[in-house]
Amino acid sequence: MNNHDEFLDSIAVYALGSLPKSEAAAARAHLRTCAQCRAEYDALRPAVDALALSAEACIDGRSGPVPSPLLRARVLRTVRQESRTPTIAPSRLRPSWPAMVVAAAAILLAVWTTAANLMLRSDLTQTHDQLAQLQAQNTNLNRRLAAQKIMIAEVMDTNAKRFPVNGGEVVKRNDHVYIAMDGMPMPPKGHVYQAWTEHTGAQKMSPSITFMPDRSGVALVSLPVNASAIAAVAVSVEPEGGSKAPTTKPEFVVKLT
Ligand SMILES: [Zn+2]
Repeated sequence: MNNHDEFLDSIAVYALGSLPKSEAAAARAHLRTCAQCRAEYDALRPAVDALALSAEACIDGRSGPVPSPLLRARVLRTVRQESRTPTIAPSRLRPSWPAMVVAAAAILLAVWTTAANLMLRSDLTQTHDQLAQLQAQNTNLNRRLAAQKIMIAEVMDTNAKRFPVNGGEVVKRNDHVYIAMDGMPMPPKGHVYQAWTEHTGAQKMSPSITFMPDRSGVALVSLPVNASAIAAVAVSVEPEGGSKAPTTKPEFVVKLT
């Protein structure tokens, strides 16, 4: 391929990246020097890009009605056939197949756009769901943060009643009872700490919540009881999920009087 007319005939094949290597090099060289061919090439780029885009849409693993590789192959086949058909007056007549390529690409783009729209819409629905989930998490976190702020304020309060225990203290403030530990070892694997509360006048401890210290051995828990009704608090190591009665010797038992 070494003249303008021949290259003009093959420009769409070149734009699709389907010219043989040897011819492509010549075409590239010609493009650099010929404004008319470059204009033709530039005019074809959007259609070719649309083809490439839809090919990627399929490769990227999305399901959906995107028949791009097939359609691309069909377009290429048509182009090749047309370029083998001798043209009557190559210098005068513009070949008809670039128009076909553009038309095929336009149809393909329409199909792709519809498919992309469907995918975008389902992405959007998913994003909405995720957003709602995040907002719920955020609300939940804020609620917990607010509860923790109250907890810390009450535990730090100088008017709180403190009952020292091994590794921390039990704190009574307003209606609340807190266990505030600092330097609590991790319980053995598969085990947790469980709190026990003795109601005033009761003969035995009732099971309360289970908890774990953080990695630095700190634990701050609010017991779900009314402080005025509780005579004593204990903590023991129990299997995960907690027990109905203590199964180990308590870490501490403290009277809240
Ligand atoms: Zn040219």
